[in-house]
Amino acid sequence: MTNYPHLLAPLDLGFVTLRNRTLMGSMHTGLEERGDWAAVAEFYARRARGGVGLIVTGGMAPNPEGGVFPGAAGLYTDEDIANHRRVTDRVHAEGGLIAMQILNAGRYAYGPNCVAPSAIKSPISPFKPTALDEDGIEKQIADYATAAERAKAAGYDGVEIMGSEGYLINQFLVTHTNRREDRWGGSYENRMRFPIEVVKRVRAVVGDEFVIIYRISMIDLIPNGSTWEEVVQLAKEIEAAGATILNTGIGWHEARVPTIATSVPRAAFVDVTKRMMGEVSIPVITSNRINHPQVAEDVLADGCADMVSMARPFLADPDFVAKAQAGQADRIAPCIACNQACLDHTFSGKLTSCLVNPQACHETDLTYVDTTSPKRVAVVGAGPAGAMAAIVAQQRGHQVTLYDKSDMIGGQLNMAKQVPGKEEFFGLVDWFKTQIGIHDVDLRLGVNVTAEMLADFDEVIIATGVVPRDPVIRGQDTHPHVVSYIDILNRKEIAGPRVVVIGAGGIGFDISEYLVTEASPTLDVSAWKEEWGITDPIQDRGGLSPNGPHPEPPARSVTLLQRKAEKPGKRLGKTTGWIHRTALAMKGVKMMGGVTYDEITPEGLRITKAEKEVLLPADTIVMCAGQLSERSLADALQVQGTPYQIIGGADVAAELDAKRAIDQGARVAATI
Ligand code: NAP
Ligand code: SF4
Repeated sequence: MTNYPHLLAPLDLGFVTLRNRTLMGSMHTGLEERGDWAAVAEFYARRARGGVGLIVTGGMAPNPEGGVFPGAAGLYTDEDIANHRRVTDRVHAEGGLIAMQILNAGRYAYGPNCVAPSAIKSPISPFKPTALDEDGIEKQIADYATAAERAKAAGYDGVEIMGSEGYLINQFLVTHTNRREDRWGGSYENRMRFPIEVVKRVRAVVGDEFVIIYRISMIDLIPNGSTWEEVVQLAKEIEAAGATILNTGIGWHEARVPTIATSVPRAAFVDVTKRMMGEVSIPVITSNRINHPQVAEDVLADGCADMVSMARPFLADPDFVAKAQAGQADRIAPCIACNQACLDHTFSGKLTSCLVNPQACHETDLTYVDTTSPKRVAVVGAGPAGAMAAIVAQQRGHQVTLYDKSDMIGGQLNMAKQVPGKEEFFGLVDWFKTQIGIHDVDLRLGVNVTAEMLADFDEVIIATGVVPRDPVIRGQDTHPHVVSYIDILNRKEIAGPRVVVIGAGGIGFDISEYLVTEASPTLDVSAWKEEWGITDPIQDRGGLSPNGPHPEPPARSVTLLQRKAEKPGKRLGKTTGWIHRTALAMKGVKMMGGVTYDEITPEGLRITKAEKEVLLPADTIVMCAGQLSERSLADALQVQGTPYQIIGGADVAAELDAKRAIDQGARVAATI
């Protein structure tokens, strides 16, 4: 008997049966644009081997103007068909099924040739779209059908028509972006015409026995979004037009509400999909922040959906389903929803990967091959860099001893997990613990390692991490409550209601969040929705409260400072920085750049800002002024003449984050 009877039950679609209820949601990998089709095929084949029920590819443009950016992958030519055929063949050989997503970005396309129902620029693109005329609309519909026909010729089992997230189809549906007065605009019947025609025309060319998933925007999360009645009406029409499955999209890209970040509660939006159950007779898929088989099982058991879409969790662990099936859920590398190596990379034009799984999208170039000459390896430091290095080296057949001076593994991750909204980091530390155990790494905690202890190992890897930088501000010893971020996260008592935070990097932001938050809204879906002004779409158009966000009052008054004159938080994650900045602003945190720290006095911190001296009264001052590499052991090895490799924060402290640490640990261990 499986632990996940709903999740692992097959789904009969009439002409084909899915082996379970998991859908690997569409993700852009960046591999297609590099023309590396062997790598694309391996990426998807790896996920098919891991047992996923149905894979959906990254969005493929039906024509150049609809590509998310110039040169975005599509399916325009016979050569494209041959390339895609390599992918479908490999997936089928692994026993999987795969559908190709057709994505026309409309006004979100990052190029001057973009098109839309009306010439209204989006807030997230510099390009004003050209309004389509009647012939232009006909061309767009025909291009969807042609793309679907080519997808079928390339061996796909189906297509997903991307109708959510604010892309072209969505742009037709709401008056926010559709101001037309012809048969494609005005009444809802007219605005719905475009998606219905697309589905009808696609069905007409692909025949009956081909999966058509339609991804509907269940909740737009933008002003003047669809009403719930409109969403249901559209869903029924889409079913009638020939869709096989209805998938859930949550929020437009321009929405000012987080929908997939770490701080979004798990399964936060499944109630919206649940409302759709019974309105249509085709299977309905739910989505967003579902990253564990138990969460997926509960969602299905609760009748919220017929299937669960997970995207990033399959980057983190291609064997998600196989491990769930084998009763080994604790071995699944958890997607912590950080976006750091996936979406942040995508939006920076870099290859997608995964913070917890550096092999994602590197299946062909980062391989963990069994060693032919096992070595005795010492890894010092069991933070993310050291733990990953130890696990990969041991997995390859080396004999690894992993040391840490602390009595627990995880290093800085143990601090990150204390921050409200970063609870997923608990799972990451647990996963490292499990991996160390199953690979039988010799773990020695609470050990102060000396250079002499390392003299006899064949390989030494130093991952001793970082120490906080002392900003050396005049008078810092005169104030009774100058503390470091480590003191705060180790739950040292915080004196008084007024706090000044020195340093507005990732940790300064995290600490500020910690200081203003009483109870983490991430652990309470209703509180979180209230905080961001999300309501039931049955009540408010687009699911946005007319009263806006309504966070809990801040637990303290916080001022966050940096010396650089730029906007604080500018260098945070590309796709998550705005969430951190908005969350703190909603809590009244004052953020100031361009300051000079003059002196700390018993009353607070004296700064100069725009040539004016100001005293910031403070009961507590928190130092978050970055890190320095902890290299004392490395230096001692140097003196002793013992060769070593150095990774993580001990190597480079600036811009240190878990993504680089884990990646470096894996790569070093893959080559020893
Ligand atoms: P950081 O991002 O490098 O920020 C250090 C801060 O200290 C900056 O605001 C810097 O700004 C200030 N600073 C540097 N030298 C100083 C000095 N001598 N005196 C006073 N202020 C000084 O480092 P961090 O905040 O410690 O974070 C470490 C890393 O962890 C980050 O780079 C990040 O990658 C990762 N992290 C990421 C997140 C995330 O949200 N993704 C969250 C937490 C941590 P000025 O020089 O302008 O004053
Ligand atoms: Fe998940 Fe972060 Fe990996 Fe992206 S990078 S898949 S969000 S763990």
